Amino acid sequence: MSGDENIVELHRRYVMPTYSPDLVLVRGKGVRVWDQEGREYLDFLAGIGVLNVGHCHPRVVAAVGNQAAKLMHVSNLYYNENQPRLARELVERSLGGKCFFCNSGAEANEALIKLARLWGKDRGGRYRIVTMRNSFHGRTLATLTATGQEKVQKGFEPLPDGFTYADFNDLESVRSAIDDRTAAVLVESVQGEGGVVPATPEFMAGLRRVCDQEGVLLFCDEVQSGMGRTGKWFGYQHYDCIPDAIALAKALGGGFPMGAIVTSSALADVFQPGNHASTFGGTPLACAAGLAVIGVIEDEGLLDNARRMGTKFRAGLEEIASRHEFVTGIRGLGLMLAMVFDRPAKDVEIIMRRKGLLALATGKTALRFLPPLVVDEDDVARALEIIADSCREFAQIEKRVS
Ligand SMILES: *Cc1c(COP(=O)(O)O)cnc(C)c1O
Repeated sequence: MSGDENIVELHRRYVMPTYSPDLVLVRGKGVRVWDQEGREYLDFLAGIGVLNVGHCHPRVVAAVGNQAAKLMHVSNLYYNENQPRLARELVERSLGGKCFFCNSGAEANEALIKLARLWGKDRGGRYRIVTMRNSFHGRTLATLTATGQEKVQKGFEPLPDGFTYADFNDLESVRSAIDDRTAAVLVESVQGEGGVVPATPEFMAGLRRVCDQEGVLLFCDEVQSGMGRTGKWFGYQHYDCIPDAIALAKALGGGFPMGAIVTSSALADVFQPGNHASTFGGTPLACAAGLAVIGVIEDEGLLDNARRMGTKFRAGLEEIASRHEFVTGIRGLGLMLAMVFDRPAKDVEIIMRRKGLLALATGKTALRFLPPLVVDEDDVARALEIIADSCREFAQIEKRVS
C-alpha cells in the first residue's frame, strides 16, 4: 500500500458500484469536510443525516476512543454498562417502554416488523404491515418491500408477503388498506428519501385514532427524522400522536453505526429470549457513542438551535425561491428541509457541490438539506449565498438550453 494510490481507481476496481460517488473526503470537523485536494465543503447533508452533532465532535471522539481502549464488544449474553444507560435516555425521551439495539435503520425496521408479527400472532393471526407510497424503510428484503417505491423493489421479486400500501397524508387510503389481518401501520413522520414531506397534523392524529379503532399498532420510522433533526427529539412529537414504537438509526451513534427500536410499555416484553438478536447490537462501544450524542444535544441546546437555525435557513430558502420560477416551494420541519423544483434537481446539486456546499437531490424534484444541528448563523448565511449563486447559474443554463 502506498500513500499516493489513486482512490477513485481503487474504488472502481474493488468496490461494487452500488453508488456513484465523486469526492474523496478525508477529514471533517463540525459542519465542514475536506477533500483530498484540501478543498472545503459545508456539509449540509450531515453525512447522510448521521452527523447531527457535527463531524468528529470532541465528546463523541473521546467517548469512542476511551471506550475502545476499555471494552469494545461483549456478547449480549452478558450485561454491559452502557447499553441500559443509553436505553434509559432513549426511553425517557420517548415512549416509556424498552429498547432493542441493532446496527442500522433497515435492521431497526426489520425488528419492528418482527415485533408486529409476534404481537399479531395471538390476535387472530395479524401479520400484515401497511406502509406508505414514496416511503423509505431500508434495503433488506422485508424493508425494501415495506418501502413503497417500485425502483427499490425492482429485480428482487418475489418479495416477502405481508405488505400493503396506502397514500401518505390520506387517512381514508390507510383506513381502506387495513383489514383483519393487519398488525401495524408504519409511517415516517417526515418522509425523507421520498422528498422531505412532513405528515399533516390531521393525518398523524387520524392515524392514531384509526389504529386504536382497528386494534392495530402504529409505528414511526424516525431513522432520519429522529435525534433532534426536526427540532424535537423525534418527529412524531410535533403531532398529536403517540406511536406504539419507533425505529432509530442514522444520527443515533453520531457517526458510529447503530440502530434501535423503542416501544411503549405495552410492547416492552413482546420479544422474549430467543425471539430476536444481534451480535453487534448495543455494544459498549456503540452505546458510548450514543450516550455522548445525547449529552451533546442536551448540553449544547441543539434542539433549540435546530428550531432557530431551521427557521432562519427556511426563510432564506423561501426568499431565493421567490426569485426563481423553477423553484416551486420549500418544505420540511426544523433542519430537515427541501427546496422543491418544477424539474429534476440533480444539476443544481452538482453546481452547489462545485461551489462548496453538499446537498442531495431526492425524490424526483426535491433538493434535500440535512445540516448538522450545530450550524450557526454564519454557516447558514454562507450556505444561502452558495444556494442563491447556484440557482442563478442554473437559471442561466436553463435559459440557454430552452
Ligand atoms: C436511511 C433510512 C433507513 C435505512 O437505514 P440504513 O441504516 O441505511 O439501513 C430507513 N428509514 C429511513 C426513514 C431512512 O431515512
